[in-house]
Amino acid sequence: MIEINLASLIGILFFTLVLLVFSVWIFYNYNEEKDLEELYHIHQCPYCTHIFKTASKKSIQTCPNCNSLLTIEKNTNNAET
Ligand SMILES: [Zn+2]
Repeated sequence: MIEINLASLIGILFFTLVLLVFSVWIFYNYNEEKDLEELYHIHQCPYCTHIFKTASKKSIQTCPNCNSLLTIEKNTNNAET
């Protein structure tokens, strides 16, 4: 039978708990960033150069600054530069 004193047992349990919480924190933060990238799209208005983000996937967006109608191409991020 394995003999272990109380201090080592508490230390091992505490270390395991901290490791578990850290791994869960890393897992949920990684998924949250991925969801936000899929949820929001960043566009730049070619007329007033206003940068805005939208959650909808419509092909025509309205600029919130100058109210121009913009044609949005799929898989294009105009604000990369
Ligand atoms: Zn605009």
